[in-house]
Amino acid sequence: MLDLSAQFQQLKGDLMPAIESVLEKAAFINGSEVAEFAKELSHYTGIKHVIPCANGTDALQLALMALDLPEGSEVICPGFTYIAVAEVCKLLKLNPVFAEVDAETFNLDPFEIEKHITPMTKVIVPVHLFGQCCDMESIMAIAEKHNLFVIEDNAQSIGAECYYSDGSVKPAGGIAHIGTTSFFPSKNLGAYGDGGAVFTNDDILAKKIKTLANHGQEVKYQHKMVGINSRLDTLQAAILLVKLKHLEAFTEIRRATAAAYDEAFKDMEQIRIPKRFSKSTHVFHQYTLRILDGDRTKIMASLKEAGIASMVYYPLPIHKQEAFLTEQSLPVCESLSKEVISLPIGSEMSKESIEYITSTFKQIIKQK
Ligand SMILES: *Cc1c(COP(=O)(O)O)cnc(C)c1O
Repeated sequence: MLDLSAQFQQLKGDLMPAIESVLEKAAFINGSEVAEFAKELSHYTGIKHVIPCANGTDALQLALMALDLPEGSEVICPGFTYIAVAEVCKLLKLNPVFAEVDAETFNLDPFEIEKHITPMTKVIVPVHLFGQCCDMESIMAIAEKHNLFVIEDNAQSIGAECYYSDGSVKPAGGIAHIGTTSFFPSKNLGAYGDGGAVFTNDDILAKKIKTLANHGQEVKYQHKMVGINSRLDTLQAAILLVKLKHLEAFTEIRRATAAAYDEAFKDMEQIRIPKRFSKSTHVFHQYTLRILDGDRTKIMASLKEAGIASMVYYPLPIHKQEAFLTEQSLPVCESLSKEVISLPIGSEMSKESIEYITSTFKQIIKQK
C-alpha cells in the first residue's frame, strides 16, 4: 500500500547518523531525542503539550485514564473505525457506544451523536478517519451543551486542519480536551516500530497524562496514582525527528496522488470517489473509494493479479465484531464495510505507477 523501503532510501543519509548517535550514546530510554521530538511536534501542530508514549492505543488509554471516569461511563465512538478506542474502553470498564458515520466522509455524524447521549455518557471520541477531520465545530458544541469530554483520535490525520465557521483554523488533535496519535510505520508520520503521542492544550491534563504514562510517578519511586508504562523509544524519536521534517512534503505527494485518482475515477458510475469535507483539509492517510455496484472481492483479486495492492479498511464495523457484538443496527457503517476499498497512496508514487493503477482499475471496474 505504500513503499516504506523507497522512503528509507530517500532519507537514509539523515536517518543513519541519527540512529547511530542514539546507539553510541546508549540512551535507549528517555534519551534527549524524545523530549526534542515532543517539542518539534508541538511546534509543527501548534498544540501546547505533546506527551510521547508507546503506541496509539496506549495514547487513547492514557487519555481516558486521565479523565477519571466512573465505571460504566459511556463513551460515544464511531461504529466504522479501527478497534483501538472500543478496546481500551472495555479494558477500563467503560462502555463504548457506537454511533453512525456519514456515508460520504466516513466520519462520525454529529447529528447521530445526540441520539446516544444518556446520563451515563461522559465522552465523545471522534476519529479523524483516512486523513480528514470530523465536524469538530458541531461535535464540540454538542459536548459543551451536554458537559462531555471529547478525545480526538488523530492516528490517521496528523497535520490536517479543521475550519471553523468564524474563519479560524484549528489543528486536528488539538481541538478537543485531549487528542491522540500513532506512529505505527504505515501512518503518515510513521516510526520504524511502534510509537504514539497524546496531545492537549490543558496544563493540568498534560501533567497528569505524563505521570500516568510513567507508572504514576512524578518523582522516581513515588507513585501518586496507578499508571502504566508507556514510552516512546529514543531510537524511534530520533527517526521521527528526521521524518517530521519531511511530513509536509510527503503530504503534498499524497494529495497529488489523490487528485490524480479523483480525476481518473470521477465520472465512473459504479464508484464514489472520497468526498472532501468542506470544514477540513485532507492529508490522505488512505484513498478510499466506495464500490456501489460490483463484486469487491473479485475486483481486489483482479487488482492483485495485476500486481496492485488494495485493502479494506474496515471489513466489519465494531458493533458486529464478536468481542463487541451489540443488537444495534448502524446501516451506514454496515454498508460502508461492504463497499470500501483503499488504493495505494504514499510518499513514493511515480507518475507511471499512478497511471498504471488508474488505467488498470478502470478496466477492471468496466469489465464488471
Ligand atoms: C493506527 C490507529 C490506532 C492505533 O495505533 P497503534 O499505534 O497501532 O496502537 C488507533 N486509532 C486509529 C484510528 C488508528 O488508525
